[in-house]
This record gives sequence, C-alpha cells and structure tokens, in this order.
Amino acid sequence: MSRPPSVDQLARSLAHHGLPHPVLVEVARRAIALDRVDHADELARRRARRMLVPVINATGVLLHTNLGRAPLAVETAATYTNLELNLATGKRGSRQAAIGELLATACGAEAAMVVNNCAGAVLLTLAALAQGRGVAVGRGEMVEIGGGFRIPDVMNQSGAHLVEVGTTNRSRLSDYVAAAHAGSPSGPAVTSNPAAGLAMVLKVHRSNYKIVGFTEDVSVRELAASPDIAVPVVADIGSGLLDRSCPWLDGPPPGWLADEPAVRQTLGDGADLVLFSGDKLFGGPQAGIIAGRRDLVERCGHHPLARALRPGSLVIHALQQVTLAYLDRRGEDIPLWRMVAATTDELEQRSEAIVARIEARAGASQPAPLSITAGPTEAVPGGGTLPTVILPSHGLRVDGDITEQLRNRDRPIIARVEEASTVIDLRTVDRLDDAELTAALMSSCGQ
Ligand SMILES: *Cc1c(COP(=O)(O)O)cnc(C)c1O
Repeated sequence: MSRPPSVDQLARSLAHHGLPHPVLVEVARRAIALDRVDHADELARRRARRMLVPVINATGVLLHTNLGRAPLAVETAATYTNLELNLATGKRGSRQAAIGELLATACGAEAAMVVNNCAGAVLLTLAALAQGRGVAVGRGEMVEIGGGFRIPDVMNQSGAHLVEVGTTNRSRLSDYVAAAHAGSPSGPAVTSNPAAGLAMVLKVHRSNYKIVGFTEDVSVRELAASPDIAVPVVADIGSGLLDRSCPWLDGPPPGWLADEPAVRQTLGDGADLVLFSGDKLFGGPQAGIIAGRRDLVERCGHHPLARALRPGSLVIHALQQVTLAYLDRRGEDIPLWRMVAATTDELEQRSEAIVARIEARAGASQPAPLSITAGPTEAVPGGGTLPTVILPSHGLRVDGDITEQLRNRDRPIIARVEEASTVIDLRTVDRLDDAELTAALMSSCGQ
C-alpha cells in the first residue's frame, strides 16, 4: 500500500515547470484533492500556460483583441522617472503635462490628456462635462463595443442623461437642434430628459457595424458649425487614426482607411473634443486619449474620476515613444504601421522563401510528408474597427489543423483554420520572426 505523497513533495516534483513554489503547492493540493496525483504534472503545465507570454500573431488580424490589439515594444530598464516631478522647478508636476503637450501637437489640439482606455475617456468626459444634464446621441450611434461597453450604460454610470436623437437609420441637423432646445423654455419637452438642459452632443463612431440603405446622418462639421447648437460637440472616434493623410508613411494612405474618421480632421471639422483608443489604429499601448479645447480638457483633468482612470508610467512611456514616432514621421518605428505598409509582393517573397527553406530541408532527408504552399490570404484590421475591410495579404497554407501544435510552443504561434488547412498570414508576423516560424513549421510537420 502506497501513501499519497506529501503536498510539499509533490510540489517539489513539479519544479521543472518554472513556477514559484507557492503556486506549485496550490497545484499539488488540487491534484491530491481530486485524487489525481498522476494528473499533477498536467495541471502544472496548464497553469504555466496561462501566464502572459509573447506570441507570434499569424492570424492576419492586425488588431487582435485576444492578442492585445496593437503590437507594442517598450524598452525600459528598472529606474525611477520624473513622472510627477517638474525638472525645471524641482517641485511636484503633473504626469499629464508632457505627454498631454506632445499628444496635443500630434493631434492639432489645444490640449490633451491620457486615461486608461477609450471607455474611460468617454466616462470621464461625460462625468466631468455633463453630470446631471443631457447628452444628445443619435439613435444610430447607441453602440456596443465588445466587452460590454454600451453607450447608454456608460451614460448612466457617468450621471449624465441620454437624450436620444433621430431614428436608427436617419438623423438630421434639425433633430439635434430640437434636442439642444429641450429643457430650455422655448424648446420642446424631451421625455428622457425632463429638466436638465443639454450639456453636450456626443457623436459616436460606428466602429464595428454599418448602417446601409435609406440613411441620413449629420457630420461633426455640420453640428459644430450650427449656430443653433451652443453646447460642445464631442466625437468618440474609437479607432484613433491620427491623420487621414498618414504623413508617417512613405506612400499614399491605404485606400481602406478612406472612410475612417481621423483625429486631426475631426478636430479640424470643429469638434470640441475627440476621444480615441491608444491601442487601435494609433498603434500604441492600451490608453484613452482626450484631445481638444483646453478648458474642456482641464475640466476632465480636475474631475475626481481622472485620478481613478490615470495611466501609469509604463503606459505614458510607451505612448510617448509612439507619439514621437508620429511627429518625426517614422511610421516604420510603429509596429502596426510597419505591418500595414508591407506590400503584398514583400509578403509573397517572404512566404515563398519559407516554403523553399522547408522543401530544401525535406528534400535532403526524404520526400516531403507535409503539404505546405505559399499563396494569397486575406487580412483584416480587427479590433472592432472597419468591419467590412479586407487587406490583400500573403501567407502559408498547411494541410490539416496544426494550430494546437503551433499554440503549444514556448512562444506560441497563433494561426487560423480554413477549409481543413492551417492558414499562416504573414501580414501580422514581424519579418524577424520568419526564422522561428519556419522552424516551428518544420517541427510541427515532423521534420
Ligand atoms: C473601441 C471603441 C471604444 C472603446 O475603446 P477602449 O479603448 O477599448 O476602451 C469606444 N468607442 C468607440 C467608438 C470604439 O470604437
């Protein structure tokens, strides 16, 4: 009769998983409680696989929400920073000051500030500028972004009142004007907003859906220019394309961005504030940026929620790097834009080179047991943006589903399956990772 091993003994036997001893103790306890000591190694392996690790994104989805949206490099050693120290005066400063000025320059705005994400930027703006008052939103713009961010719910949380405008498919300037007069003695009563008066018009970009057919919409430019709308016009554009003309690229702007609202142009159209994500088409870290009129940005900055939503130095550091790259027009230093700018010819050459290397290796030993081919693929922007856009791309197709083997590597490679083949899209793979990808394909295919 053998007694079960002690928790400590079992935990020690799992040390090769590279997890700290207290974690292995939990795993060991669980295996013993389940009466599955034989299963402890597998439990430890699964636990190790839940840690955050760098992955290779071979899905062709540029902003893959599950993979952290925009790819990001932050180089920083352990160090203090002048996060809240004004180096000129030696006194306490603001963590927002420098990054706010830099972003303002990049956006063509008077001022800017940074919060945790764009949802936070919407929440803070509503709370700071419209608490207890009305905010007009078109009925076709009551969006839900993935992860439960719904405009009406955020509005509730902020303490502002939603004033619905127009219909799902059509809204006109006159609808907004009527909302702007609601609550004022001369205006019509609005049922959802009995007394408060309007504080703001909020335009929300339909990032992840389209309304087609019998439609009519009012632009930020029309709203901002209307003498009948005296309240600030705030645009939540979500995706964070900085400038429609993409001056940080060598070539012309990609055609698929033609209809995407851009920060500089939206401010140029007269928006009082623009809100956007740091990690969508801006290509930076998770962050929310509020840019526009100085007095409004300052009111946001002074609201108590600003403290709860503020970013840490890692995020500010990463945003600063990306913003500097934009200002220097160094698109090639922003990983997302490097991937966007790659030509299909380049991607084709890379995929053919990978296939050639694998075939050369296979030919040297025995006839190739796997079928791998290079060919055109379709990449997408992802991240809940541009739902109908497809980017021509190039990649590899391997017979059968090898996604699990690829995912189980120390540095997982995430691919997709299409019609019983594994598709590896090179649009989202850094060229420096081609060698690792080649090695992974050789070993997954038993070579
Ligand atoms: C993505 C998006 C958000 C939410 O942005 P997060 O940075 O993920 O919080 C808000 N509004 C719009 C229009 C968006 O597209």
